[in-house]
Formats: sequence, structure tokens, C-alpha cells
Amino acid sequence: MEQSGFFEEDFLRVTRWIDEYFEHPERYAVLPNVRPGEIAAQLPSQAPETGEPFDAIMSDFERIIVPGITHWNHPRFFAYFATSAAPSAIMAEALAATLDVKVMLWRTSPAAAELESVVMRWLGRLLGVPEGWTGVIYDTASIAGFTALAAARESLGLAIRENGMTGRDLPVLRIYATEHTHSHIEKAAIALGIGQANVVKVDCDGQFRMSPAALETAIVRDLKDGYRPAAVVATVGTTSTTSVDPVAKIADITERFGVWLHVDAAYAGIAAILPEHRDLMDGVYRADSLVVNPHKWLFVPMDLSVLFLKDEAAVRRAFSLVPEYLATTDVDVRNYMDYGLQLGRRFRALKLWFVLRHMGASGMRERLRAHIALAQEFASWVASERDWEVLAPHPLSVVCFRFHPSGTDDEAELERMNAALLDAVNATGEMFISHTKINGRYALRLAIGNLRTKESDVAAAWSILQREAMKVPA
Ligand SMILES: *Cc1c(COP(=O)(O)O)cnc(C)c1O
Repeated sequence: MEQSGFFEEDFLRVTRWIDEYFEHPERYAVLPNVRPGEIAAQLPSQAPETGEPFDAIMSDFERIIVPGITHWNHPRFFAYFATSAAPSAIMAEALAATLDVKVMLWRTSPAAAELESVVMRWLGRLLGVPEGWTGVIYDTASIAGFTALAAARESLGLAIRENGMTGRDLPVLRIYATEHTHSHIEKAAIALGIGQANVVKVDCDGQFRMSPAALETAIVRDLKDGYRPAAVVATVGTTSTTSVDPVAKIADITERFGVWLHVDAAYAGIAAILPEHRDLMDGVYRADSLVVNPHKWLFVPMDLSVLFLKDEAAVRRAFSLVPEYLATTDVDVRNYMDYGLQLGRRFRALKLWFVLRHMGASGMRERLRAHIALAQEFASWVASERDWEVLAPHPLSVVCFRFHPSGTDDEAELERMNAALLDAVNATGEMFISHTKINGRYALRLAIGNLRTKESDVAAAWSILQREAMKVPA
């Protein structure tokens, strides 16, 4: 049995560990120097038969686990999308785990259900989401996007919910996206029985944005060929370059053809809390659904992604299914189990509530502005150096660039050099960046989003890049 006095001492050890960790996350190599299997080899192959003292567990955490961690909290973590969790949100996670409620029916925890609705309204207002829309929390953008597309499929009126899609005469359904759309949309098409081949990759303009004219052509051609358009996915802040699809112009088309418009703003949508970036939401009010990820750029730890819905009933029509043992007579309540595949749901609203209150909207704006300014500064350093180039517009906190020594113009050669450079800088343990491909060109990608990243960290990354580039064999 867990004893409470004993527990308090152990918890204090954990809080001291967290405190020290946040004092100096840069003490660790950002990308651990471990080989596959090395961590598992240090762990027993079976669970212990009898309980072990907390001390032993905690020492192994420090000795085995922490050295094998990729330190997303490191101020020079610049890979993928850099993120970080505010301490207030971490404390909320401990409290949520303590309460351990399942936010499925209103009555399985009224305060958790109502806090979710209130915090979603707060977030919606900060972002400029229309008043009548409903926000619902999911674990990730991938699941939120899947849920939106399931609602889009259900709203076609083909009775797929009742009868499925096999053994019957149905049109082939189509989803329109671009080559820059996040891969979860294709996964959703796979899971929804639409098929990966029916995600149409609409052409982009020179700045990696969906071409509305190409979208219209694709829809018209598909209709002529007997396909049924099910949804268009516009991205506000693509994963590779943070390009922004022209949502308003896309909405002109989806409205005309009566097609569901889903907007994936997982990363960049958060920046709409800044008045100077409110234009990221242009036209979004004409969409049917919108995803933003507070776990990406709003200082809550994994996981917390939000789906805003113009008509929440569309999602309920797709997913609500109430067995007798969950039936209630509660009225005027939101039963969150009706909004997706999941039944039991974590109390995720608590951490967003804590961090919104503790930082305040102005505190959040200040931090986002600092991240954007650092990225702009980095881009200006790259642009002003011969032998380096910026490869895409960088409106927010992500910069795509590469080493491009004069005289080397062969794409394969440039890819080999930059891939070697990526490995070299990441092997230092002093910084971590990732890569992408833009129109077939290999690009290094630096993303800023960590609360602890300072100008000196970005400057250090730039000098490591320059130093290692000199060593790359030509
Ligand atoms: C990060 C990202 C996703 C995936 O987010 P998860 O929450 O990890 O599923 C989806 N779309 C875009 C545009 C993203 O940047």
C-alpha cells in the first residue's frame, strides 16, 4: 500500500528533480548518443515480483532513462516543432493524474467537462474563432483531423455510419490537399476507408500554397468523372515551411460546391493570438473545422490538441453511440464521449487553464513574439552569408535553409553535403535540427518554440553550423 507520509518525501524528491532539470536542461546532450537497443539492454526482461523502494526506481530513472532522453526542453532543441511546457502546466498534470477522472459523461466529472467548455471558449476568443463554434480537446492533431474528416464523410448523407462502405454502390470519395499537407490526412483517409489514392494533391504556387484555381479544376474534373468530393484540407502553417494556404479563396470554392472545409493550423494557428498575425485566421470562419495544437506552441505538455467546429452536431452524428450502461437523464450538458472514438478522456483542460491564468494572454504573446523575432534574426544571418541560403519564406518561427558553397550547384551533391552537415551538428549534442525537402531540394530546418531559448542559443547554433560546414567534404 502507498503510505501518504512516505509519498510526500518521494514527491518532494521528484519536484526537486524537476526544478534542477529546468535550471539546466542544457547540461544534457540534446540528442542522446545511444545506439538502438542500448537502453532496453540495461533493463530487466521481467517486471519485479515484489515491489521495490521508490529510491531504487528513481535512481534507475536518473541512471538509465534520462541519459537516453532526447531533451525537448534543451534550449537548443530546434528540430521538428520546438515545444516546451510551462511549470504551471506540469503541476496541473500532476493534479489531473491525481484526480484521475474520465471526462466522458458530464456526470463522470462535471467540473472537468465544464472547465473544458470554458477554456475552449477562452482559447477561441484569443484566436479569433467565431463565437458560435465549439472547441473540443483531443490528444493530437492527427486524431482531431481524423475526427473532422469522419464528420465530413458522415455529412455526405451516404449512410456510411449505418451500412459501411463495402458491398454497396457508392461513389469514390475524394479529399483535396497538397504535397505540403501533413501526413495525418492521408492516414485519416486510410482509416476512413477513403483510401490514400483518393487524397488528391492539388498544385501549389511558388510559395508552397494551395492554388485555388488548381483546386477548382480538380473538383470539376472529379465531379465530371463521377467522384464525390468529401473534404478540402487547407493548411495554415505547413509542417515543412509554415506556408499558409489561401483559406478565403479556398472557401469560395468549397462553399460553391458544398464541400466540407477543414483547416489544419496545428502549429501556426496559435500565432493568431498576436494581433499582427490575426490574418492567419482570414477566411477560417467560413470553414467547417479547425485544428490548433496548444501542445505545440502554447506551453502545455503533450498532449492537448483542439478541434473547433462550426457545427458540433456534425461530429456527434458521426460518433455518438450510447450503450445502456452509459445512458443518463442529464440535460443541457455536454457528454464529451459523443465527440470521437474515445470513451474515457484525460482531464486535459486543467493544464491549459493553469497556463492561461499563470502566463496571461500578454505573457503568451510576449513569448511568441520573442520566438518569431529569433527566427527572423537567424534567417537574416543565413541570408547575409555567402555559401548559405534561405529556401522558403519564414513568416513565423521556422526557417528552412541550406549550405550552398559557390560553385556547387548539383542538387544531389548539395543534398549529400547538407545531410552530412545535419548529422555532424546533431552529433555534437549541443543542438538538434531536422530537415525536409522543398520542391525536391534538401533543406535544413530550424524551429524555435522553447521557453528557454535565448538569442545566445540561436547564435551558438549558427556558429556550430558554420564550423561543421567547413569540415564537410566537398
Ligand atoms: C504537428 C502538426 C500535425 C501533427 O500534430 P500531432 O498533434 O502530433 O498529431 C498536424 N498538422 C500540422 C500542420 C502540424 O504542424
